Amino acid sequence: MKEDILHNLEIINDRIKKACDKAGRNSDEVRLLLATKTVSAENIKTALENGETLIAENKVQELKDKYEALKDTPHENHFIGHLQTNKVKDILKYDVACVQSLDRLELAEKLHRRLLSEEKTIEVLIQVNTSNEESKFGIHPDDAVELTRKVSEFSTLKIKGLMTIGLFSAETERVRHCFKILKNLQQEIISQNIPNVEMKELSMGMSGDLETAIEEGSTIVRVGTAVFGARVYPDSYYWNEEKL
Ligand SMILES: *Cc1c(COP(=O)(O)O)cnc(C)c1O
Repeated sequence: MKEDILHNLEIINDRIKKACDKAGRNSDEVRLLLATKTVSAENIKTALENGETLIAENKVQELKDKYEALKDTPHENHFIGHLQTNKVKDILKYDVACVQSLDRLELAEKLHRRLLSEEKTIEVLIQVNTSNEESKFGIHPDDAVELTRKVSEFSTLKIKGLMTIGLFSAETERVRHCFKILKNLQQEIISQNIPNVEMKELSMGMSGDLETAIEEGSTIVRVGTAVFGARVYPDSYYWNEEKL
């Protein structure tokens, strides 16, 4: 297993580099985020000890379960799953640096209130549903600018950019369309010069579509299966509201 992970990391980092070369981008503009849902702390550690620095969970329970085992290995932790408002406290407790899945005002309000009382701040990305699929979370693209504007008023939330899950499709151009929507929203938000809003991050691209995402301007690619292997749970377990 350890050899597999190290080998897979080499392949992924090479894919990122080649995609950057092809797009005429510098490969240090794109960070690899390891999506670690269902992955054991031991396997995550293998990746971190091999020089990876950025990991993310989808569920607070998994964050909690692996926290002790990983806390002495330097890394940065993001959160990429649907966050229920009653779990906000835990996100802060387990040192999450960035919530990439901020998709509604109610969640922003809860985060802000908690952060104020703890005298902390947190980075966030606004998650946009660019694929129009019911099963995926994220604000509708038409409402993303307004949500960004409202979230920007919370002094404890540092908006760094946008996140999306592209369409699952073998048709590259349909997937690319999702990434273009995110890029266009980024440009629109930048042009509005909203105080307290940075738009440098575009978190888009996964195991199957990272090349397309990098061509369209991704700064964070989120990769799970291509490094750690197939998951036992279907993705719907993580992405469908009904299943939560
Ligand atoms: C699981 C997950 C990923 C990674 O998906 P893979 O296809 O395993 O690379 C990326 N983003 C989110 C939000 C995820 O839940």
